[in-house]
Amino acid sequence: MPVVACLWCPIDECPKQTQPMPLPVSTLQHKPLNPEEWPNDKELLYAACPDCRQVSAHLRFVLWNLPDFPSGPHADKSWLRISFRCAVEDCKTPVQFHTLVIPTAEPARNEWREKLASGYWRGVSPCGHPIAITNDQKVGFAWVQGRMQGYNLADPLWSTL
Ligand SMILES: [Zn+2]
Ligand SMILES: [Zn+2]
Repeated sequence: MPVVACLWCPIDECPKQTQPMPLPVSTLQHKPLNPEEWPNDKELLYAACPDCRQVSAHLRFVLWNLPDFPSGPHADKSWLRISFRCAVEDCKTPVQFHTLVIPTAEPARNEWREKLASGYWRGVSPCGHPIAITNDQKVGFAWVQGRMQGYNLADPLWSTL
Protein backbone atom coordinates (compact mmCIF):
# COMPACT_ATOMS: atom_id res chain seq x y z
CA MET A 1 0.00 0.00 0.00
CA PRO A 2 1.45 3.37 -0.88
CA VAL A 3 2.34 5.42 2.19
CA VAL A 4 1.61 9.02 1.39
CA ALA A 5 2.39 12.26 3.24
CA CYS A 6 -0.92 13.98 3.89
CA LEU A 7 -2.49 16.92 5.66
CA TRP A 8 -5.79 16.66 7.47
CA CYS A 9 -8.36 19.37 7.87
CA PRO A 10 -8.66 20.09 11.62
CA ILE A 11 -12.06 21.78 11.35
CA ASP A 12 -14.77 19.86 13.22
CA GLU A 13 -17.53 21.13 10.93
CA CYS A 14 -15.70 20.10 7.76
CA PRO A 15 -17.98 17.89 5.66
CA LYS A 16 -15.04 15.73 4.60
CA GLN A 17 -12.78 15.89 7.61
CA THR A 18 -11.92 12.24 7.17
CA GLN A 19 -10.51 12.79 3.70
CA PRO A 20 -6.75 13.44 3.58
CA MET A 21 -5.04 16.00 1.37
CA PRO A 22 -2.11 14.18 -0.24
CA LEU A 23 1.08 16.21 -0.47
CA PRO A 24 3.42 15.97 -3.47
CA VAL A 25 5.22 12.65 -3.47
CA SER A 26 8.56 14.47 -3.39
CA THR A 27 7.74 15.72 0.12
CA LEU A 28 8.60 12.23 1.29
CA GLN A 29 11.43 11.36 -1.07
CA HIS A 30 14.13 13.81 -0.05
CA LYS A 31 15.93 12.31 2.91
CA PRO A 32 17.61 13.44 5.02
CA LEU A 33 15.48 16.52 5.29
CA ASN A 34 17.04 19.79 4.28
CA PRO A 35 16.51 22.10 7.29
CA GLU A 36 15.42 24.83 4.90
CA GLU A 37 12.59 22.70 3.58
CA TRP A 38 9.26 21.98 5.20
CA PRO A 39 8.70 20.15 7.49
CA ASN A 40 11.60 21.39 9.62
CA ASP A 41 9.95 21.82 13.04
CA LYS A 42 10.04 25.61 12.78
CA GLU A 43 8.09 26.74 9.74
CA LEU A 44 4.33 26.44 9.53
CA LEU A 45 2.69 25.37 6.33
CA TYR A 46 -0.65 27.05 5.79
CA ALA A 47 -3.17 25.03 3.81
CA ALA A 48 -6.77 25.63 2.81
CA CYS A 49 -9.07 22.62 2.90
CA PRO A 50 -10.62 22.12 -0.54
CA ASP A 51 -13.89 21.05 1.07
CA CYS A 52 -14.58 23.60 3.83
CA ARG A 53 -12.14 26.31 2.58
CA GLN A 54 -10.70 26.89 6.03
CA VAL A 55 -7.00 27.72 6.20
CA SER A 56 -5.11 25.91 8.94
CA ALA A 57 -1.45 25.89 9.98
CA HIS A 58 0.58 22.69 9.96
CA LEU A 59 3.98 21.93 11.49
CA ARG A 60 4.21 18.45 10.02
CA PHE A 61 2.44 15.98 7.78
CA VAL A 62 0.96 12.62 8.69
CA LEU A 63 1.80 9.38 6.91
CA TRP A 64 -1.17 7.48 5.67
CA ASN A 65 -1.85 4.36 3.68
CA LEU A 66 -3.82 5.35 0.62
CA PRO A 67 -4.65 2.12 -1.20
CA ASP A 68 -5.81 3.85 -4.35
CA PHE A 69 -3.02 6.45 -4.56
CA PRO A 70 -2.17 8.16 -6.93
CA SER A 71 -5.85 8.15 -7.82
CA GLY A 72 -8.29 8.71 -4.97
CA PRO A 73 -8.94 11.86 -2.93
CA HIS A 74 -8.02 15.08 -4.74
CA ALA A 75 -6.07 13.17 -7.40
CA ASP A 76 -7.38 15.58 -10.04
CA LYS A 77 -5.92 18.60 -8.22
CA SER A 78 -2.55 20.27 -7.83
CA TRP A 79 -1.26 22.39 -4.97
CA LEU A 80 -1.41 26.11 -5.64
CA ARG A 81 0.60 28.52 -3.48
CA ILE A 82 -1.02 31.90 -2.90
CA SER A 83 1.12 34.71 -1.44
CA PHE A 84 0.22 38.32 -0.71
CA ARG A 85 0.45 41.01 1.95
CA CYS A 86 -2.41 41.43 4.39
CA ALA A 87 -4.70 44.20 3.15
CA VAL A 88 -6.34 45.00 6.49
CA GLU A 89 -5.57 48.47 7.84
CA ASP A 90 -2.10 48.71 6.28
CA CYS A 91 -1.03 45.61 8.17
CA LYS A 92 1.05 44.34 5.21
CA THR A 93 2.03 41.13 7.01
CA PRO A 94 3.06 38.47 4.47
CA VAL A 95 0.28 35.91 4.13
CA GLN A 96 0.71 32.62 2.32
CA PHE A 97 -1.35 29.49 2.01
CA HIS A 98 -1.67 26.47 -0.24
CA THR A 99 -4.78 24.94 -1.66
CA LEU A 100 -5.68 22.02 -3.91
CA VAL A 101 -7.23 23.14 -7.19
CA ILE A 102 -7.86 21.50 -10.53
CA PRO A 103 -5.16 22.80 -12.88
CA THR A 104 -6.25 24.64 -16.00
CA ALA A 105 -4.29 25.38 -19.15
CA GLU A 106 -4.51 29.09 -18.40
CA PRO A 107 -3.94 30.00 -14.74
CA ALA A 108 -7.30 31.26 -13.44
CA ARG A 109 -5.72 34.29 -11.75
CA ASN A 110 -8.82 36.50 -11.98
CA GLU A 111 -11.04 33.82 -10.51
CA TRP A 112 -8.59 33.23 -7.66
CA ARG A 113 -8.30 36.99 -7.01
CA GLU A 114 -12.08 37.27 -6.82
CA LYS A 115 -12.20 34.41 -4.35
CA LEU A 116 -9.53 36.08 -2.20
CA ALA A 117 -11.37 39.41 -2.27
CA SER A 118 -14.74 37.89 -1.45
CA GLY A 119 -13.70 35.90 1.61
CA TYR A 120 -13.96 32.50 -0.08
CA TRP A 121 -11.00 31.28 2.00
CA ARG A 122 -11.24 31.82 5.74
CA GLY A 123 -9.21 30.93 8.78
CA VAL A 124 -5.74 31.37 10.12
CA SER A 125 -3.36 34.03 8.88
CA PRO A 126 -0.02 34.90 10.52
CA CYS A 127 -1.31 38.31 11.73
CA GLY A 128 -4.77 37.13 12.76
CA HIS A 129 -6.63 39.27 10.23
CA PRO A 130 -9.20 37.78 7.86
CA ILE A 131 -7.86 36.64 4.50
CA ALA A 132 -8.55 39.51 2.10
CA ILE A 133 -6.96 41.52 -0.70
CA THR A 134 -7.65 44.89 -2.30
CA ASN A 135 -8.45 45.23 -5.99
CA ASP A 136 -5.08 46.51 -7.13
CA GLN A 137 -2.61 44.71 -4.91
CA LYS A 138 -0.09 42.16 -6.14
CA VAL A 139 -0.77 38.50 -5.45
CA GLY A 140 1.66 35.67 -6.15
CA PHE A 141 0.16 32.48 -7.58
CA ALA A 142 2.47 29.52 -8.16
CA TRP A 143 1.97 25.82 -8.68
CA VAL A 144 4.00 23.86 -6.16
CA GLN A 145 6.91 22.24 -7.95
CA GLY A 146 8.55 19.53 -5.95
CA ARG A 147 8.37 19.92 -2.20
CA MET A 148 5.93 21.99 -0.22
CA GLN A 149 7.32 25.19 1.26
CA GLY A 150 6.68 26.51 4.75
CA TYR A 151 5.92 30.09 5.72
CA ASN A 152 9.28 31.86 5.64
CA LEU A 153 9.68 35.61 6.11
CA ALA A 154 13.19 35.39 4.62
CA ASP A 155 11.76 34.27 1.26
CA PRO A 156 12.92 36.79 -1.41
CA LEU A 157 9.38 36.56 -2.77
CA TRP A 158 8.18 39.03 -0.13
CA SER A 159 10.26 41.87 -1.55
CA THR A 160 8.26 41.59 -4.79
CA LEU A 161 4.79 41.71 -3.20
ZN1 LIG B 1 -12.13 21.02 5.82
ZN1 LIG C 1 -2.91 41.56 8.92
